[in-house]
Amino acid sequence: MKLQVLGCDGGIGGSAQRTTALRLDDDILIDAGSGVGDLSLDALAAIGDVFLTHAHLDHIAFLPLLIDAVGERRRRPLTVHAPEEVLAALRQHIFNDAIWPDFSRIPSPAQAFMRYRPLAVGEAVVLGGRTITALPVAHTVPAVGYRIDSGRASYVFSGDTGPGPAFWQAVEAIDNLAALIVECAFPDRERALAEVSRHFCPTLLAEALALLQRPCALYITHLKPGLADQTMAEIATVLAARQPRRLAKGMTFEF
Ligand SMILES: [Zn+2]
Ligand SMILES: [Zn+2]
Repeated sequence: MKLQVLGCDGGIGGSAQRTTALRLDDDILIDAGSGVGDLSLDALAAIGDVFLTHAHLDHIAFLPLLIDAVGERRRRPLTVHAPEEVLAALRQHIFNDAIWPDFSRIPSPAQAFMRYRPLAVGEAVVLGGRTITALPVAHTVPAVGYRIDSGRASYVFSGDTGPGPAFWQAVEAIDNLAALIVECAFPDRERALAEVSRHFCPTLLAEALALLQRPCALYITHLKPGLADQTMAEIATVLAARQPRRLAKGMTFEF
């Protein structure tokens, strides 16, 4: 199984910055931020399932454009997996025939370009031997993280989250955990903003990671453009023992 980083920045601001999107093999997306826009038409058409962590724009912005670009080229609908509250937000605020067409009814309700599949926290979806499980996180809106399990190893992606014990308990229980990709949106001088927007800053992340005994590789994602170097330097100090690495667009993991 191959996991490729299409985008992992906490915003835009340059030709190298792309918001969150991960591609699992050729056919699954985890989030659909602006990183999706670098895929070719053929690569876009190969996407069959999209798992969303939450409905914030930096994680869904390119989903409407993806469906529009390749809906007619696909033989079966694109399936969008997410908690019911996230799907409801998409229906109400994006695919509402005002911002964007309701592609769950186009070209016809019986043979639509996309379909919604609600996913409960803790629920696992198995697609071609790959198991994707929604994990509890704590953000300002309904959100989940995901465990991606090849059968041999698991990678965990936090999506957007601030402190909360449920996520760490769920990660601790993963016996084949290989890596954790966790967000850290802000540097420590913006700790108050991190707390109110329910993101991590380095000291909050270090406090949370103290709850995780299980060893694993640690990758940092969702750094704010312009503040990324500073934030990573702070993380390197407070989490030195875990040898954190910065996630980067183009990285590919085989597991
Ligand atoms: Zn968010
Ligand atoms: Zn975000």
